[in-house]
Amino acid sequence: MSPSLRLLEDSLRSVADTVIKRLEPLSLHTSFRLGGPSRLWVEPGTLTALAAVVKGTEASGIQWMVMGGGTNLLFPDSGFDGVIISTIRLQRYSVSDRVIRAEAGVPLARIVTCSIRSGLAGLTELAGIPGTIGGAIAGNAGVQGHDVFTPLRRVELVDRDGTIRWIAADELDHGYRQGGIPSGSVVCAAEWAMEPDAPDMLRARARAALKERSEKQPSGEPSAGCVFKNPAGQSAGKLMDEAGLKGARVGGAVVSDTHANWIVLDGPATSKDVMRLIEFTRKRIHESTGILLETEIVLVRTAGV
Ligand SMILES: Cc1cc2nc3c(=O)[nH]c(=O)nc-3n(C[C@H](O)[C@H](O)[C@H](O)COP(=O)(O)OP(=O)(O)OC[C@H]3O[C@@H](n4cnc5c(N)ncnc54)[C@H](O)[C@@H]3O)c2cc1C
Repeated sequence: MSPSLRLLEDSLRSVADTVIKRLEPLSLHTSFRLGGPSRLWVEPGTLTALAAVVKGTEASGIQWMVMGGGTNLLFPDSGFDGVIISTIRLQRYSVSDRVIRAEAGVPLARIVTCSIRSGLAGLTELAGIPGTIGGAIAGNAGVQGHDVFTPLRRVELVDRDGTIRWIAADELDHGYRQGGIPSGSVVCAAEWAMEPDAPDMLRARARAALKERSEKQPSGEPSAGCVFKNPAGQSAGKLMDEAGLKGARVGGAVVSDTHANWIVLDGPATSKDVMRLIEFTRKRIHESTGILLETEIVLVRTAGV
C-alpha cells in the first residue's frame, strides 16, 4: 500500500460510524459476481460520515468512486486501485404526508413496496429493478416510460468538498438513463412527493410489471441487466437479435437467448470475458448498421491492485 493511501486510511479510521476494509473482493458486491479487490473499501454509516469520507478522500487525490448495489457495474478482474465508498449502511427511510424520503443505500425495491403499502403512486412500475436509491437516481433507472425521476421532488447531495445540500429534481439535467448528478457529487438521500392511489390497484400494477419482467428477461444467472442503451427510436435488443448475436459467447459470458441486450454468465467467467463480448457485439452492430452502441452498464476502467 502506498504511503498516501496508508495516510488516508488512518484519517478515515477517525471518522465515526465508518467501516473500513482492505482488499475487499468486489465480486462479493456486484450482481455479475465479478471484479477483483478494492484497495480500500469504506462504508459510512451516517450522512455526516459519508460527507467526511468524501471530503477526506477527494482531498487525498486518490482515485475513488461510490457504489450502491453493484447491479450496473463491471469492474476489472485486477480490481480497483483506490477507494470504493459503499452506501450499503445508509438504509434509513420514512413516509409522511405523501412524501417518501430515503437514504442512498436503501434498496429501490424496498421503496417501491413501501409506496404500494402506503397507497402512493409513481414508483410501482419500477418493481423488480434491483439496486439502491443512489444508483437508481445516478442512472435514472426505469422501464418502459416510467423512471425514478417521475415523482422525484429533490435530491440530497454531498459535493467533493463535503458540503451537503438539497437540489430540486428539475434542476438536475436528467434524461434517458442519466440522472445529471454533478460529476464527483454523491447522492445521500432523495425525496418523492407522490399522489394517492388504492393499494390494491398499485399491487396489481406491480404484479403485472414483475410478470412481464419474468417473461422477457433472463433470471437466475449473474448479469447487470441491459448492456447497451437504446439508440434514439431503436431497441438495442432488437438490433442485437437481428444481427444474430443471441448465444454469442466469450468464455463463460454469453448473450442471453431470452433477451439479446443482456449478457449473462453461464459458467466460470471473468470480467475480461464480459468486456470482450461487449466489444465484439458493439463492433458487429456498428459494422452491420453503422450505429455505435453506448453501454448502459458502467465499465470501470482503472489500474488494478
Ligand atoms: C436483473 C437486473 C435487472 C435490471 N433491470 C433494470 C431496469 O429495468 N431498468 C434499469 O434502469 N436498470 C436495470 N438494471 C440495472 C441496475 O439495476 C440499475 O441501473 C440500478 O439503478 C443500479 O443501482 P445500483 O445501486 O446497483 O448502482 P451501482 O451498480 O452500484 O452503481 C451504478 C452507477 O451509479 C453510481 N452510483 C451508485 N450509487 C450512487 C450514489 N449514491 N451517488 C452517486 N452515484 C452513485 C455508481 O458510481 C455507478 O456509476 C437491472 C440490473 C439487473 C442486474
